[in-house]
Amino acid sequence: MGEPTIESLYEEVRARTPVRVDDTPVTIAPVAPGIRVLALRTPTLPPAAHTNVYLVGPDAGPVAVVDPGSPYPDQQAILDAVLTDISIAMVLLTHHHGDHVGGATALADRWNVPIAAHANTARRLAGRVRVTRIIEDGEVVHGATSVFTPGHADGHLCYEIGAATIAGDMVAGVGTILIDPSEGDMALYLASLERLLARPAATLLPAHGPAIPDGPGKLTEYIAHRRMREQRVVDALATEGTLAELVATVYSDTPRVLWPLAERSLLAHLEKLLREGRARNVDGRWSR
Ligand SMILES: [Zn+2]
Repeated sequence: MGEPTIESLYEEVRARTPVRVDDTPVTIAPVAPGIRVLALRTPTLPPAAHTNVYLVGPDAGPVAVVDPGSPYPDQQAILDAVLTDISIAMVLLTHHHGDHVGGATALADRWNVPIAAHANTARRLAGRVRVTRIIEDGEVVHGATSVFTPGHADGHLCYEIGAATIAGDMVAGVGTILIDPSEGDMALYLASLERLLARPAATLLPAHGPAIPDGPGKLTEYIAHRRMREQRVVDALATEGTLAELVATVYSDTPRVLWPLAERSLLAHLEKLLREGRARNVDGRWSR
């Protein structure tokens, strides 16, 4: 068996998380000038149960549709109904995860529009979703400026539109962001958070949960949180241990149901520390 994918990790947590009755009404709503949002149900990481689809452009279109992530036909039908009166120019992807791309092909085929993403995203989606336009860092696409923000995924792009930034999985309005070392990188993620923080202050529009008006505040909080966790890892390494042993120490404040995910994040921290010469790994046992 190979490395678990993020999708399989999400599924594992979903399987152990009590199902809540979901009565969130599906409606399209403005969130920033020229940006509307529609939250569709997706197989994502609990407690989030939806991925926000953002429509960028004038009321009647043409719009760029960002992250049509739902693989479920009933949810895709809701999006199709919304788009009946709005012309669509393209599908834009923030990154390759299933809960962001699950409806991309169906939508692009239905409206005969291109799917645009970073080259690394296109590579990871090869054979699953055909990306027909590659977006580079800093490129302006349909009025949105792309910002390359690798870390959660190696092809992650945010999109700046005026004073709002579509943030993908850089931050979450509900739930947490997983850095899984099989396809993510903790050092890059931290650098990307810093990169976003250094840009003009913006409202962050996350893929999961409501808009975050104080973007810089949230980014600062995220950076501080990851640094705190890293310090806990460094402290825990005073006693040599396996990954499983370290999880119990470093994530003692995290519900056990999330430990399979925490273990991935822990490994991402450890690999960063290893590269920095601040951790050692001998036969699966970690120490300073
Ligand atoms: Zn993701």
